[in-house]
Amino acid sequence: MSPSDSSHAAERLLTLQEAIAIALQSIQPITEIESVPLLGAEGRVLAGDLLARLDVPPGDNSAMDGFAVHWSDLSPDVTTRLPVIGQALAGHRYAHPVPRGAAVRITTGALLPEGPDTVIMQEHCRIAPDETWVEIESRTTSRLRPGENIRRRGEDVQAGTIFLNHGRRLRPQEIALAAGQGLTHLQVIRQPRIAVASTGDELYEPGVELPPGAIYESNRYLLIGLLRRLGCAVTDLGILRDNRDALLSTLRCAAADHDVLLTSGGVSVGTADLVKEAIAELGQIAFWRLAVKPGKPVTFGRIADCLILGLPGNPVSVMMSFLLFARPLLLKRMGTEPAEPLRWRVAADFAVRRKPGRREWLRAQLQLDSEQRPLAGLYHTQSSGALSSLTWADGLVELPEDCASVAPGDAVDYLPFSALGVE
Ligand code: AMP
Ligand code: MG
Repeated sequence: MSPSDSSHAAERLLTLQEAIAIALQSIQPITEIESVPLLGAEGRVLAGDLLARLDVPPGDNSAMDGFAVHWSDLSPDVTTRLPVIGQALAGHRYAHPVPRGAAVRITTGALLPEGPDTVIMQEHCRIAPDETWVEIESRTTSRLRPGENIRRRGEDVQAGTIFLNHGRRLRPQEIALAAGQGLTHLQVIRQPRIAVASTGDELYEPGVELPPGAIYESNRYLLIGLLRRLGCAVTDLGILRDNRDALLSTLRCAAADHDVLLTSGGVSVGTADLVKEAIAELGQIAFWRLAVKPGKPVTFGRIADCLILGLPGNPVSVMMSFLLFARPLLLKRMGTEPAEPLRWRVAADFAVRRKPGRREWLRAQLQLDSEQRPLAGLYHTQSSGALSSLTWADGLVELPEDCASVAPGDAVDYLPFSALGVE
């Protein structure tokens, strides 16, 4: 290798995929477990497999309001009239067997009485005004099958089977499934403790008057919200000034009792970019730049057992680097498997020329063309400082590293925010 090759190799930025693979290797999932009530379990990660104790439903029952009948009583040629000998209601067991030649009125969710094997929707029946009989026309019978409108015992969940696996992040529907098993509490992995700080002399909290040249800080509002959605316990360290000693002491303290320290700003190459140096002084940096746009200066390292993610300062870069880089790492730490986000192939409604080399995310909105095919349009500014591009967008167009241009109509990858955990 010539000297220029080796300096080029030393310069080469890690791709996003390489960086995630390196970082994932150094992350151990949290193993401490706690018990939480069902209504406090959303977003938490299951610590063990859940074994079903009960069949759901507990017995064969009706899927409709109607009449329980013996299929063999129904004539395919003429109208069948059956006496109605009782009522089976949800929550009550119908005590007697139902003989052939008789029907029972049944409500949705009621256990099927002994005897009948089919339920006919009441909308498909003619019912006597005094409800003493019910008639089923032959054309109704010809459209039905035996066993119609019956939900079988255990068809949703079977006792003795695992109905949710460990590592599963709990959404309302998983919690509801656990409730259906009569569980009141779930064993989940302890939440990761994440400390969040913004850095910069120009930053002020909303609510105070701004001195000249200052701006209100927005990154903590972005990051804390994203972290809470993910199911992390957040400590807000506030705004840290561009001051070496103050940075060192705050980062040292925070690293001692958190799983992850997330900062924004101060990791680029300016004279006031002191965060990277502070991390290097207190711990180790694994890498500090990625071949991505926006969000190139991402610093990844650790201070003792605390993972450090030094995100860039520009708000759009913060959101991109959080969603595409930090999120999978945090998910692994939380004890769940980070899945590659779903990308859709859609047509570009824009033109772009660019220098290949970095993976790029453009703030985009999907629309449908006249034939209902999805078309991705771009926000008018793609500046990494323009937060408004993120409130406008419903997702991102992802340009691969080697892409040099996009013409209208070209197929591009679109990542909906929903695939990244943000609606
Ligand atoms: P830095 O990486 O610290 O040089 O910051 C890059 C840009 O992001 C600068 O224009 C900063 O003013 C801006 N910035 C940094 N942190 C924040 C923040 N917390 N809120 C809004 N803008 C920020
Ligand atoms: Mg700064």
